Amino acid sequence: MAGAEYYGRGTAIMTQNELVSVFVSILNTDRVLAEEPMSNHTTFKTGGNAELLLVLHAEEELKAVLEILGREQLPYTLIGRGSNLLVSDEGLPGVVLKLADGFDEVCVREGGLVYAQAGATLRSACLGAIHAGLSGLEFAGGIPGCVGGGVAMNAGAYGGELKDVVEYVRILTPARKVQTFTNEQMRFSYRKSAVQGSGSVILGAAFRLQPGDRDQSMETFNCLNARRKEKQPLNFPSAGSTFKRPQGNYASALIDQCNLKGFTIGGAQVSEKHAGFIINLGNASSRDIYELICYVRQEVMKKTGILLEPEVRLLGEF
Ligand SMILES: Cc1cc2nc3c(=O)[nH]c(=O)nc-3n(C[C@H](O)[C@H](O)[C@H](O)COP(=O)(O)OP(=O)(O)OC[C@H]3O[C@@H](n4cnc5c(N)ncnc54)[C@H](O)[C@@H]3O)c2cc1C
Repeated sequence: MAGAEYYGRGTAIMTQNELVSVFVSILNTDRVLAEEPMSNHTTFKTGGNAELLLVLHAEEELKAVLEILGREQLPYTLIGRGSNLLVSDEGLPGVVLKLADGFDEVCVREGGLVYAQAGATLRSACLGAIHAGLSGLEFAGGIPGCVGGGVAMNAGAYGGELKDVVEYVRILTPARKVQTFTNEQMRFSYRKSAVQGSGSVILGAAFRLQPGDRDQSMETFNCLNARRKEKQPLNFPSAGSTFKRPQGNYASALIDQCNLKGFTIGGAQVSEKHAGFIINLGNASSRDIYELICYVRQEVMKKTGILLEPEVRLLGEF
């Protein structure tokens, strides 16, 4: 399993201090974080330091930053809320661009369209739609990511996937051109889209929804969240389902069949509550989680002949 997911060549001319000064002149000081623990930015609560982490709140900031990264040929990594990431304990070289905690407007447009900026949570996009009397995003309201990460991953749950409702996606290419991709141009498939591995940044997405009944949509939203609480180990750090669903089967059922529930390496455990989740018991390293992922894959392969593919994105060297 390859781990790296960097864009750029990594031959910076400026020193780290010089880079920090340049980025501080574009962003506020509190949004330029040197040697920042990635455990603060992942729902697994693991991961070594990012050389530099920049929290971006506006399109213009992003363009200015990408220009510098291009000029300096610095590698960069994109993250949203870090809810689908396993970051190496060795950390991440170059610059991590975080599009969350800002960049988060949700607006309702004519004709049943809801446009949400990349940093908006899927929850707020869903609730914004419900309050406007629009239905169709309820399935995504409990996925703990933001719109950029969700669209990049084609996140889905309870029979829905974002590809079913995306009308168009605004994207900033590494050459700093803003482009609008149609649903087809996004080439969505199961937990995949055209932007993964491209270095392009999702700026926001428009969802085409149907007129709906506010109370009924709210009830669906609440019911689905209650189901999550009941079935998922939400009181432990995790990245949701560790593995993709193999065709015609469920990863959790296969893992359970192999008696791996509760199996532990270091501080990482196959959840007793939901075998599809690997959880951090509190003191796990990313290495523990990675080794558990490898062990589960190996055991499931040995006993069922099915090779599980991680859904979690590995960042850095493993
Ligand atoms: C408790 C729990 C439950 C979960 N349930 C579900 C579920 O039901 N269904 C599901 O599909 N997932 C689920 N997940 C996984 C995760 O929430 C989703 O994959 C989510 O869409 C990731 O969004 P994020 O903002 O956290 O992205 P991140 O994890 O930060 O990033 C994911 C990927 O998207 C890329 N990316 C992020 N932002 C951008 C951007 N602006 N432009 C381009 N690329 C970008 C990153 O480079 C990375 O490759 C769950 C996770 C947890 C912890």
